[in-house]
Amino acid sequence: MANLAKSIRGMNDTLPTDTPEWRAVEGHILSVLQCYGYHEIRLPILEQTSVFHRSIGEQTDIVQKEMYSFEDRNGDSLTLRPEGTASCVRAVLQNSLLQNVPQRLWYLGPMFRHERPQRGRLRQFHQVGIEVFGAGSPQSDAELIMLTRRLWDSLSITNLRLEVNSLGNEESRANYRTALVNYFSPFKKLLDEPSLARLNSNPLRILDSKNPDLQELISEAPSLSDYLDDDSKNHFIAFTKILSANNIKYTINPRLVRGLDYYNKTVFEWVTEELGAQSAICAGGRYDSLVGTMGGKASHATGCAMGLERIIELRKVQQITLSPQSPDIYVMATDDNYELLAIQTAEYLRSHIPALKTILHVSSGKLKARMKKADRTGARIAILIGADEAVAKKVTVKPLQTNKQQIMCSEHELKEILNEMLVTNG
Ligand code: ATP
Ligand code: MG
Repeated sequence: MANLAKSIRGMNDTLPTDTPEWRAVEGHILSVLQCYGYHEIRLPILEQTSVFHRSIGEQTDIVQKEMYSFEDRNGDSLTLRPEGTASCVRAVLQNSLLQNVPQRLWYLGPMFRHERPQRGRLRQFHQVGIEVFGAGSPQSDAELIMLTRRLWDSLSITNLRLEVNSLGNEESRANYRTALVNYFSPFKKLLDEPSLARLNSNPLRILDSKNPDLQELISEAPSLSDYLDDDSKNHFIAFTKILSANNIKYTINPRLVRGLDYYNKTVFEWVTEELGAQSAICAGGRYDSLVGTMGGKASHATGCAMGLERIIELRKVQQITLSPQSPDIYVMATDDNYELLAIQTAEYLRSHIPALKTILHVSSGKLKARMKKADRTGARIAILIGADEAVAKKVTVKPLQTNKQQIMCSEHELKEILNEMLVTNG
């Protein structure tokens, strides 16, 4: 056992006991996205490293310490995508998708960040990302909120809190930056290393620090809302009005600045109190300058991403997880001589009643051992084929886990008999 290969820390297998829950969650997400008219885009997992450096920002945790970057055999620097927005912008530009806007897009897939693995924080995790290009209005920000709110309902998730903020335009952020540098500079001795590094490069990110020792200092810092330009202020007011008109409760969190550099105006997070420190389930905001930064003709953009592991963990905590379903039917020959007939019966069922899950017994053994296997699968009905059945050209239908009588019938009677047994059997 000592030499068995192990997966990389923070990169987990999703086992058959868990995949039904993943499928169910993905299914809910897909139907809500379709209901709002969003289109799927599939993006590569590897990109040129420069795609992320240009977009996410040099002073972010992601670029500074979390990216899986390496040189390929040609000496090109490549990176396993840490998030999807940068790739999505790269793709819409490369494929000229912005000729027809608004473009409402979504994607789902693994993301990679070299973080300290813990509950709700992995090195390979999965995001659903939603991006809207070519719409600058508060309505398009609000649409993301209404869509995600509907998603939580569809997933039966409760008790999420919506936090919102506005980051303003470039000029208001520049003024605010100066105010923050002036505020933090006298406290250099109190700042930790990452915050010190950000003091001149990107002081807004100090507000995003999770270091508990800094929280008091941060709480006294100037508030961005005092530096907002009029356009952003009006945008934010219109945005929150739409939320209120749709019965969506929100908290304005003036410290919400988000971990990536490309945001402006609206930013938001859906947070839970039920997952410890990893509280953000979904996060996003407007990023009107990114398309231009990445070489395209300026285009409005807004979007968000949600972490599937955290959603699934939360459903576990709230006890709404789906378990794998047992098969309905277990088909077996009573001994090896009737194997071919059993295979034909199982295939008959799959052709004629595909809604039922049919398992075929595939090993030898005495009848008792075969029945034990059938019981262990949790199947509700066994179908047996032996000497008597072969002669009569019939099969025996035997309810499992109850004392009900077994019935012998011909193949074409199976549909009716099975349906009735499965319904009355509960
Ligand atoms: P956090 O503050 O928790 O590190 P973040 O701001 O880095 O989150 P985003 O880049 O906004 O996260 O990603 C959007 C969502 O993806 C998060 O709200 C979270 O649900 C999920 N997510 C981010 N990083 C991880 C991770 N390492 N493991 C699992 N889920 C993650
Ligand atoms: Mg992070």
